[in-house]
Amino acid sequence: MATPIRYSITSLDPASHLYDVSLTVDSPAADGQVFSLPAWIPGSYMIREFGKNIVQLRGQSNGRKVAVKKLDKHTWQAAPCKGALTLHYQVYAWDLSVRTAHLDRTHGFFNGTSVFLAAHGFEEVEHVVDIVRPEGDDYKRWRVATAMPELKAKRYGFGTYVAPDYDALIDHPVEIGDFALATFQAHGVPHDVVITGRVPNLDLARLCDDLKKICEAQIAFFEPRSKRAPVDRYVFMTLAVGDGYGGLEHRASTALICSRADLPVKGKAEQTDGYRTYLGLCSHEYFHTWNVKRIKPAVFAPYDLRQENYTSLLWLFEGFTSYYDDLFLVRTGVIDLDNYLKLVGKTVTGVLRGSGRKKQSVAESSFDAWVKYYRQDENASNAIVSYYTKGSLVALGLDLTIRTQTRGRRSLDDVMRGLWVRYGRDFYDGKQQGVPEDEILAIMEELSGADLKRFHDRHIRGTEDVPLEDLLPAFGVAYEANVPADAKPWLGARIGKEGGDAKLAAVYEGGPAMLAGLSAGDKLVAIDGLRVAASGPDGLLARYRINDTVRIHAFRRDELMEFSLKLKSDTAPQVTLKALAKPVAVLRQRQAWLTQKGR
Ligand code: ZN
Repeated sequence: MATPIRYSITSLDPASHLYDVSLTVDSPAADGQVFSLPAWIPGSYMIREFGKNIVQLRGQSNGRKVAVKKLDKHTWQAAPCKGALTLHYQVYAWDLSVRTAHLDRTHGFFNGTSVFLAAHGFEEVEHVVDIVRPEGDDYKRWRVATAMPELKAKRYGFGTYVAPDYDALIDHPVEIGDFALATFQAHGVPHDVVITGRVPNLDLARLCDDLKKICEAQIAFFEPRSKRAPVDRYVFMTLAVGDGYGGLEHRASTALICSRADLPVKGKAEQTDGYRTYLGLCSHEYFHTWNVKRIKPAVFAPYDLRQENYTSLLWLFEGFTSYYDDLFLVRTGVIDLDNYLKLVGKTVTGVLRGSGRKKQSVAESSFDAWVKYYRQDENASNAIVSYYTKGSLVALGLDLTIRTQTRGRRSLDDVMRGLWVRYGRDFYDGKQQGVPEDEILAIMEELSGADLKRFHDRHIRGTEDVPLEDLLPAFGVAYEANVPADAKPWLGARIGKEGGDAKLAAVYEGGPAMLAGLSAGDKLVAIDGLRVAASGPDGLLARYRINDTVRIHAFRRDELMEFSLKLKSDTAPQVTLKALAKPVAVLRQRQAWLTQKGR
């Protein structure tokens, strides 16, 4: 049995945004030990080349310097040496996102993918990490939050942590700082809620109450009989900032960023849109504990962290998760039916706005995530469809189709549970098998007992819209698509403020701006000789009627150009879903879908 790979991580001065890392391999490869850093982080499908943040890497063995040469952008090789080899390096950590690493005098956060080089050939051995408190009085109150098990450390303390292999090491992000902390139990498993950032009057008790309902419901969903969680403990770590939103799932934790205003305030019972959004995000990442961290596409089992891992199934792993996140809020009563239908209506409206949905299927969008969804440019809404939002409508459509075809005996819930039993439950217990790319239709049909080929061909492999207007009424939900009666003149572009200018951030295909010859990046100067404010042209446009023609001056780069534009109304429908009072049989269907009692 090989000895563990040992790391230590600290900072000489957090204000420098540099982590000091050392890594020791007791018996390095005889022909020169190779090390590398991942090029991407699982859950965020884009090549990020974390190796670019490594500075000053040095090798040492028996007190002597060992030469280290670079083989490519994220790979190093040490010269052959006898005895233990230690690398020392620093990592620049100044990206305030859940994907990389961040460090200053207020807190530290890191993903292992950003800070821990992999020692090739030793990926399967134990990896132990000393997390060392920075020196100085400013850091006396700092604690450590991570789902990585402690080896020689008190819970939340600095000290030694341990992971069974490299894959686990980089799947336990670490937050260090003076954070707020609360713990609740969900079906006997401790769940920590860690909030970093200044949040006056934070109502942690209310947050724990709501999260407990969501977590217990999801545990019982996948394991209805045993109610056994897939983890021994779980950590929700959130960084609260002025304005932010994002999350990344891990096997026993999640790293989140939210807006301070979204978190509940002590003594204020009202449920804000922002708080619902935050709970939806928590629910989403928690559902990933099963769907994508354990039930995975075959190509992720194991991940190849050096390059893109192509799968056409992200509509299942992200889309289904996006469907179930809010569904669990309504099933547990954390949000009410009206608010749930409002959220779904907003998603439908958003999906129907982009013409990219007619050109790219959710299967194609999944496959191309690395270069399209994750690298959106000004043409995105005209060229791509989101496997998150349309994927969630695909899940809704599949759920209602299965319920309709089987007269309520089966649902998408049975598909999820079937996938769990077949691919997920034993994933970290020696059965590393992923969902095969080409068999998903057969698997879903087998698990649901429904005929789903038509749906799959049209709405997953094809680009047709999910026919929710046909499916929802049988469940007591009315689907209304309206172009607002008080339609205002519209340019057919998204406007972004840039300095003192109103800039066209995106130009919608077939809209008035594109027909007039305007482009994304153009800066609006005047409409009919009147200056366009940086905040946009809405005030000026309000004086016009649909079908009026206006003269627009705009800068393209440094050239002033003139355009003749015929104003139209925005033809994208606003979709609203409403609960109907219907015969008892229909209400029973709706209850089975949207509540826990119904099943
Ligand atoms: Zn997700």
